[in-house]
Amino acid sequence: MNNFTFYNPVKIFFGKGQISAISKEIPANARVMVTYGGGSIKKNGVYDQVMAALQGHTVLEFCNIEPNPHYETLMQAVDIAKRQEIDFVLAVGGGSVIDGTKFIVAAMAYEGEDPWDMLAERAPVKGAVPFGTVLTLPGTGSEMNSGAVITRVSTQEKLSFGSPHTFPQFSVLDPETTFTLPLRQVSNGVVDAFTHVLEQYLTYPVNAPLQDRMAESVLLTLKEEGPKALQSTQDYETMANIMWSATMALNGVIRVGVPTDWATHYIGHELTALHGIDHARTLAVVLPSLLRYKSEVKKEKLLQYGERVWGVNAGTEDERLEATLQATISFFESMEIDTKLSDYKVGEDTIKQIVKRFQERGVKNLGERSDIQVTDVEQILLMSL
Ligand code: NAP
Ligand code: FE
Repeated sequence: MNNFTFYNPVKIFFGKGQISAISKEIPANARVMVTYGGGSIKKNGVYDQVMAALQGHTVLEFCNIEPNPHYETLMQAVDIAKRQEIDFVLAVGGGSVIDGTKFIVAAMAYEGEDPWDMLAERAPVKGAVPFGTVLTLPGTGSEMNSGAVITRVSTQEKLSFGSPHTFPQFSVLDPETTFTLPLRQVSNGVVDAFTHVLEQYLTYPVNAPLQDRMAESVLLTLKEEGPKALQSTQDYETMANIMWSATMALNGVIRVGVPTDWATHYIGHELTALHGIDHARTLAVVLPSLLRYKSEVKKEKLLQYGERVWGVNAGTEDERLEATLQATISFFESMEIDTKLSDYKVGEDTIKQIVKRFQERGVKNLGERSDIQVTDVEQILLMSL
């Protein structure tokens, strides 16, 4: 097992009726900005619950944060929040609202010229206005981590940043808030969370059996509960188990002491930036090809994953590797997610464009061994066509 430092200060309120808990978590005299998306929270009663819990606080709203939140929109929020002397932000929504809010709170405290530099130039994040979240879409894990992914529309860039300052102070996970999710978003959430685990698990062995088994337990739970959620998004236990699995998939617990890959996410972000394909769907396209392309160096963990998660234990090594990849693809497809670039009407032109963008940005050395270069990205994407 590798050395590690673990830090995660996020307080979690899990379960029915927990939105009311936020009233005690936000200072009584705070000037609060509530951030949300296109209005799903107004239709399903979450907005009303949040406003009831915030009674007595000074509250301002910022809405219309879009999926794959836009830098351009978020900068408007930063401007308003500064002018209104906001000192606490409450994000209510899915990964996009939460990620967008992380950018807003860090940008409010940013002293340089353009907060975009926190992403493009890796400019240090030296502080942030405190914030909390009410999660309505399980998947990204953003509710219990400090990372965020932001899209700049004018340049078609989708980049990430993170800092110890951008952990939420608390997150409310009430599975009942997910009952109104469209099936497309349920599928996205399950596949995003599943891929988060695989990116921290399918690397090379470092003698960390507890980490392996924690990763496998999240995978097995998503494998069992995901298809049930497609039958009904109103089953409390199913949604509760998916919600907690997705949080555990990316709150740092399973990543300590082990190598991590993240090349699939890195490449996937380009597909969203260029074509607006849902985040999880880009992962379902890239991951199987990446695993196949790197199957030789990932062999040991791939075989373990196949056996422990999919019960693949017969045949030669090559046959078992292939059966494991097929099981993963079938799972994504059973979650109603297409796994080929051509399914999204994306062709070789886009691959050339991504290669060029990576070259221009000097992107290289991706993956847990830092051995995925731009030419490998091209091969992986060609295999995904
Ligand atoms: P999302 O973009 O936050 O939301 C997708 C859609 O779901 C929105 O239209 C939203 O509508 C709707 N929605 C959310 N909750 C709902 C509910 N309870 N009922 C009905 N509709 C609901 O989706 P996401 O998958 O959670 O987030 C994707 C973003 O997170 C991407 O930008 C991705 O790159 C990023 N991400 C971040 C991390 C991280 O660690 N920070 C990890 C992976 C991915 P409204 O707008 O009307 O609410
Ligand atoms: Fe993700």
